[in-house]
Amino acid sequence: MKRFFLSPGSLQGRRMVFTGPDARYISRSLRLKRGAEIVGFDGAGMEYTGTIAILSPRRVEAVISETSVSEELPSVRIALAQSLLKGRGLDGVLRQATELGISEFIPLATRYTIPRLYQEGEKRRQRWARIAADASRQSGRKINPVVHPVEQWKNFLARAQEYDLSLLPWEKEGEKSLKAVTARSAGGGVPARILVAIGPEGGFTESEAAEAVEAGFLAVSLGPRILRAATAGVAAVAYLQLALGDR
Ligand code: SAH
Repeated sequence: MKRFFLSPGSLQGRRMVFTGPDARYISRSLRLKRGAEIVGFDGAGMEYTGTIAILSPRRVEAVISETSVSEELPSVRIALAQSLLKGRGLDGVLRQATELGISEFIPLATRYTIPRLYQEGEKRRQRWARIAADASRQSGRKINPVVHPVEQWKNFLARAQEYDLSLLPWEKEGEKSLKAVTARSAGGGVPARILVAIGPEGGFTESEAAEAVEAGFLAVSLGPRILRAATAGVAAVAYLQLALGDR
């Protein structure tokens, strides 16, 4: 059955209503017919099965026959804080990290983030939320990651206390590796909520790393090779999923 993301407002009483590109897609591209069953999901955990009752390229309405709570939350909930990247660099990271199952995405402004990007508005956040919703749909996720507004480093630090494990991959960390840290966790109680913060292209400064550790982050190495910032975010999430996440 085809699955569609329900934007706020698409749920009208016992009906799912699609307009704009969604309606065109359903009627023209998919050529679904009246009577066909579709599934809508709201990205917050609810799922609706409905039968198409009204069909035109402008408007599609489906009558809901069944409402259910979608998938269980993943066993490990990963929040990826990724420093802002040049251009649309963050888009790809968000998309791939969503496929890999992150629960939260926090765009981060650090010392070496390009200053022009400090003024990140609500519009940009909504664009990222759409990217996350789209990637969720493609990978069959029913709960979209929460996309936070851009956070400034100083405010971000306090988050360390909100998670069971807060990690700062830092290429200058010589002792602790992510591999060793997760191997230790995997044996005992697996942390349910993990925060992982990735620096920008220019990296974290020494003082940022020190502040993070002071705030409760654990600095870890991702291995002997330096990864580009975008690679590091995706690799860290993949690694955490493999080591601690869903089987
Ligand atoms: N400081 C470097 C590279 C920054 S890499 C430079 O001057 O170019 C961007 C970010 O990816 C880093 O801030 C860090 O969070 C992460 N990263 C990349 N490779 C890493 C590694 N081998 N170990 C831990 N973190 C790494």
